[in-house]
Amino acid sequence: MSQELFKKSQEINLAASREDEIDVNLFFKHAAPIIRHYNRWKDIDRFYFIPLKLNMVYLCAGLTLPVAYPPYFIGTIVRNSFEHPELFAVKCECGHSAYAYSYNGSPLSGRFDLSYACPHCGANSSDTKSGWHIRSKVLTATQEEDLVRGRHLQSLNPSFEPAPIRELLKFCCVDEDCDDCLM
Ligand SMILES: [Zn+2]
Repeated sequence: MSQELFKKSQEINLAASREDEIDVNLFFKHAAPIIRHYNRWKDIDRFYFIPLKLNMVYLCAGLTLPVAYPPYFIGTIVRNSFEHPELFAVKCECGHSAYAYSYNGSPLSGRFDLSYACPHCGANSSDTKSGWHIRSKVLTATQEEDLVRGRHLQSLNPSFEPAPIRELLKFCCVDEDCDDCLM
């Protein structure tokens, strides 16, 4: 697994295992505290490079068109939203910024669906925008930077393994009354 971690895939494997699904659901459910504590974990590579089997694929007439090709790392997704708020953030009802943690859409119509979490108040929201191509381009560039960094990291430490997502949750949700994080 480790050797494959920073290899860009041109293939989309839509069959996620039950474990992969649980990880993705935990990320979605706890996106707000994960985003809130980004500055505390962004320099911890075991957290930054936790991979997720996100579904970012648009299927049409036998074509699979992803927003970006895997691998998708938690750190990449969150960093990308912080660094490109004009494309990946909105104003929350509480007045602060909410950041995208999940998205998909159609390159044909240009439609782009985003789910946001607000690190300030914890609210979740979603909306649909135009601009699939620009978002795909920006995310892919962020991802390329992280793949380069990841490969470098792995060359220095060949046995590098990312942490299980529950460790990140424990790190981020420690003060909150949360069953997932106490397990
Ligand atoms: Zn808010």
